[in-house]
Amino acid sequence: MSKVPFVTKEQVEEIAKTYPTPFYIYDKNQIIENVRRVKKAFAWNEGFKEYFAVKATPNPFILKLLRTEGCGVDCSSLTELIMSEKCGFYGEEIMFSSNVTPAEEYVKAKELGAYINLDDYSHIQFLKDCAGIPKTICCRYNPGGVFSLGTDIMDNPGDAKYGMTKEQLIQAYKDLKELGAEEFGIHSFIASNTVSNEYYPTLAGILFELALEIKEKAGVNISFINLSGGVGVPYKPDQEPNDILAIGEGVRKKFEEILVPNGLGNVKIFTEMGRFMLAPYGGLVAKVLHEKKIYKDYIGLDACAVNLMRPAMYGAYHHITVLGKENEPCDHKYDVTGSLCENNDKFAIDRMLPKIDIGDYVFIHDTGAHGFAMGYNYNGKLKSAELLLRKDGTVKLIRRAETVEDYFATFDFCDILK
Ligand SMILES: *Cc1c(COP(=O)(O)O)cnc(C)c1O
Repeated sequence: MSKVPFVTKEQVEEIAKTYPTPFYIYDKNQIIENVRRVKKAFAWNEGFKEYFAVKATPNPFILKLLRTEGCGVDCSSLTELIMSEKCGFYGEEIMFSSNVTPAEEYVKAKELGAYINLDDYSHIQFLKDCAGIPKTICCRYNPGGVFSLGTDIMDNPGDAKYGMTKEQLIQAYKDLKELGAEEFGIHSFIASNTVSNEYYPTLAGILFELALEIKEKAGVNISFINLSGGVGVPYKPDQEPNDILAIGEGVRKKFEEILVPNGLGNVKIFTEMGRFMLAPYGGLVAKVLHEKKIYKDYIGLDACAVNLMRPAMYGAYHHITVLGKENEPCDHKYDVTGSLCENNDKFAIDRMLPKIDIGDYVFIHDTGAHGFAMGYNYNGKLKSAELLLRKDGTVKLIRRAETVEDYFATFDFCDILK
């Protein structure tokens, strides 16, 4: 099996005349089709809303596009809140799922009328003191231990810094009710990048049972349950993608089984997906600058870990297509690298690819989420442009490439670099 880039070599050559590589490109049409599938999968739930995790692809053009398709946003910083506000999101279109939250961020979230999702029991007092307790409030649950689906250990919530224990959670709802809150949400994010149709339904089962327990022990009504992110994508070509319609149906079954018979049939289901919404519909396009043969064969690109950090940070796999050589045999073994003075700056290690020539363009797949966003500026390297591919094959610039002046801008208080 192979992954097919959504642009051809000829398209990239044409685009690169105006926007030199490296650049990110996103497929508008596929993004829209995917949002519509998500909405269809949860259409059985009247209050359903997907709050796109802004951190995954914090581009205002993308956020506005998602808003047009009926999505909200999930923010966890002041900048993300302000960007969302400027894109027209307001009130219940914003979920504020932060942790280690500064007071000014709670103040801003409250001012926007966002749903505030508390990460810790101690934040009740903190929020009360800095912004006041809103009428609707959400708390984040951490079940601890390990999270498995069948025999597969998916993740390790017991080691994660997020959320509250069950005891804290129940006490939190009692306190919040005491402090005047009237409507309550439950949030939990316990496994990342799950490539399994069972994750959301299993999590939903846990949270729906929890809702019954909270209702009983804290005497509050739960108005929404936020399944958060964690729905993954197949980064490797031999992985089976998630079927969002099957996922939605799995959640519906748990809903009918647990909530409906207990009088909670009007609970709204929220999601906060980032990766699933964008990752497959973005690619990083780079050009081959050098080939080097020492103890191994190295292909050096004009992009580096500054543009895409996941391989360096997690050893993450990203599939690479050499554009124009889609049908050639992968009979050469390369390390594909960037130019940082840092040996983990490798997009691929011992990857079998077609014979690569200098000047070839490569398409690095599944980088539409947590790709550009994680960028940094090590070695004074600059972030790339972002482009949106339209249905007619033309592109729209949705972020220009960073310049040296941008990099120097934080010295604009003095004339040392003038
Ligand atoms: C990162 C994050 C998400 C999105 O996660 P994905 O794995 O991209 O779906 C959602 N909610 C919160 C609170 C997050 O931190």
